Amino acid sequence: MTEAAQVSSLIRHLDFVIRDTFCLVQSCVEAENSRMSTIAATEFLPIVATGAATRDFMVVSLHDVAPSNQQIANTIVSELARRGVSVCSLLVVPDYHHQGLSTRNQEFVSWLRALEADGHEIVIHGYFHERPRRAKESLHDKFLTRFYTEQEGEFYDLGYEEALSRITRARDDFCASGLKSRGFVAPAWLLSKEAERAARDAGMEYTTRLHKVCDLRAGDEFAARSIVYSIRRNWRRGISRICNATLFRYLEGRPLLRISIHPPDYSHPAVWRQVTGMIEKAIGSRTATTYQDWIAQQRLRRGM
Ligand SMILES: [Zn+2]
Repeated sequence: MTEAAQVSSLIRHLDFVIRDTFCLVQSCVEAENSRMSTIAATEFLPIVATGAATRDFMVVSLHDVAPSNQQIANTIVSELARRGVSVCSLLVVPDYHHQGLSTRNQEFVSWLRALEADGHEIVIHGYFHERPRRAKESLHDKFLTRFYTEQEGEFYDLGYEEALSRITRARDDFCASGLKSRGFVAPAWLLSKEAERAARDAGMEYTTRLHKVCDLRAGDEFAARSIVYSIRRNWRRGISRICNATLFRYLEGRPLLRISIHPPDYSHPAVWRQVTGMIEKAIGSRTATTYQDWIAQQRLRRGM
């Protein structure tokens, strides 16, 4: 090859390299811009992988997480991971039954931060998880606060100011401990309208109820019944298992399956067998996700 031909070949090669590099940089910038607009649109991270978008979803939530049950909660999280549920919604109580602030326990906080780093979400779950009896309660109030839940419906009839104070205190406390809580779920899902308004005003992005998931910022509600067990008495456990077996079949075609676990469920073999059986069956066709990611995807779908 002559010297002129060598120079010409070198120039063509350089031109190719420059164009190729430009295209690479441009697509990186576009990808980054697209990622940024996604973040701006949802204010949530991380977004679920697009490969999973065609599948149905499942959120497994673990309720009443506190330092006093950290060990069993950790065992449950590991058992779930073993069955393909790599991320869960962890409902953490800021001061469970006045036992003391959860965030004061450094070992507990470190454990939560590690789980959050692995993709689990930390949700604020009430504040004390306790509701003192009121004078002159109606039959309806008594049924919900004493029979349906055992004096745990803290936010059932809490006024706006007190609800706002408890949720913002928990939010700031969790944030100071390095936990990024975006959601609030009331104990036993009993959340008064005033308390729901307080949760929204405290910057909470979402809440859940027994029958639905609520995007507090967008004002959207998604019908999705949760499977949950009542285990306080032997007969309740029996009825729960029968009802949940039927409910699981009924929910099979739904886009979002919700399974709510409480730490004591693990100690009842028949209950735990059924929970894990449902999860093993569902994981074949569903992707385990968090409420945070699931809501982010609904917002994207609606072009928010
Ligand atoms: Zn609870």
